[in-house]
Amino acid sequence: MTKKIAVLAGDGIGPEIMAQALKVLTAMKLPLEFEESLVGGVAYAAYGHPLPESCIKLAKESDAVLFGAVGDFKYDTLERHLRPEQAILGLRKALGLFVNLRPAVCFPELTAASSLKPELVAGLDLLLIRELTGDVYFGQPRGKRISPDGQFAGAEEGYDTMRYAVPEVERIAHVAFKAAMGRKKHLVSVDKANVLETSQLWRDTMIEVSKQYPEVTLEHMYVDNAAMQLVKAPKRIDVMVTGNLFGDILSDEAAMLTGSIGMLASAALNDKGQGLYEPSHGSAPDIAGKNIANPLAQILSAAMMLRYSLGMEQESCAIENAVKKVLSQGYRTGDIWSEGCKKVSCSEMGDAVIAALK
Ligand code: NAD
Repeated sequence: MTKKIAVLAGDGIGPEIMAQALKVLTAMKLPLEFEESLVGGVAYAAYGHPLPESCIKLAKESDAVLFGAVGDFKYDTLERHLRPEQAILGLRKALGLFVNLRPAVCFPELTAASSLKPELVAGLDLLLIRELTGDVYFGQPRGKRISPDGQFAGAEEGYDTMRYAVPEVERIAHVAFKAAMGRKKHLVSVDKANVLETSQLWRDTMIEVSKQYPEVTLEHMYVDNAAMQLVKAPKRIDVMVTGNLFGDILSDEAAMLTGSIGMLASAALNDKGQGLYEPSHGSAPDIAGKNIANPLAQILSAAMMLRYSLGMEQESCAIENAVKKVLSQGYRTGDIWSEGCKKVSCSEMGDAVIAALK
């Protein structure tokens, strides 16, 4: 059955890198139908809103959303709700995307790009799972007020609420345990249970859910230790799951282990398996329109889409293997280029991936 993909290329390098991902998917002759919509700054310019209703409708009725990137400094003076980046938050909300999957893979050929010693990151293949719709980012009450008590009573103060409900933790726990089952059967759950009530509930719930996955070893790590372990011995972590706040910080730390932001894909999923797939980087306005951006994160996002939303595991692996092959053949865009490698443009990299698929 043909699957429908909403294609939201967005701003900056979005359209250039998206063109390469679509080229690769089309070359594979998969039963996919693509429908495009403007999103982000280009949608604001055309319709006065970064996330038009027509875009939300398309995303909802599609099997998956392939997203490029949004944002441009020229929109930074707009009111917050009209800024391009709001489109991502709006799509997460509209589709109920509560899981963020952030793989951090360090391809052997690119270990020199990492700021860590090559032996620490060579062959790194870590999956960080972040809860995306709860925690202190969304917890109520929040706001500013005159402090009612304590040492600073009478002063203006800001406050937010960290909260998680048991079913909210359970659903992300199941995603994490299932991911661990498909990998090394080892799951690290990150919290701050020594200090926070919310974290104690998180930990207790993880332990409860773990009983349904006896094959998976569950390890708990305090967030401060997790931040250390990621730079000390990242390869001992296979799958890591955590809440929204800790995940926001740790996922960027994990991404940086690989050194090359142009290589990192990500996925946000809902409970129906519908997902939004996008590179971890932004719209890179500084290099937009020059055909020099690295399209591999976008192409790897398409591979994740095939695996997690469309049930096409073999095809997903084929793309990932083709990317490994082009790197071993020495093809590099400017951001990952080093002496002795073949420097290619964005579109030439897309062509190289297609050639490597054959
Ligand atoms: P950025 O990720 O766009 O760029 C950071 C640096 O990395 C730049 O030097 C850029 O040229 C380079 N870079 C990024 N992707 C690359 C690629 N594929 N190939 C080669 N080089 C690449 O971050 P920024 O400059 O802080 O933000 C630019 C805009 O993107 C802002 O408007 C920001 O709000 C937005 N943004 C959007 C998303 C998203 O769409 N999910 C995420 C982050 C930032």
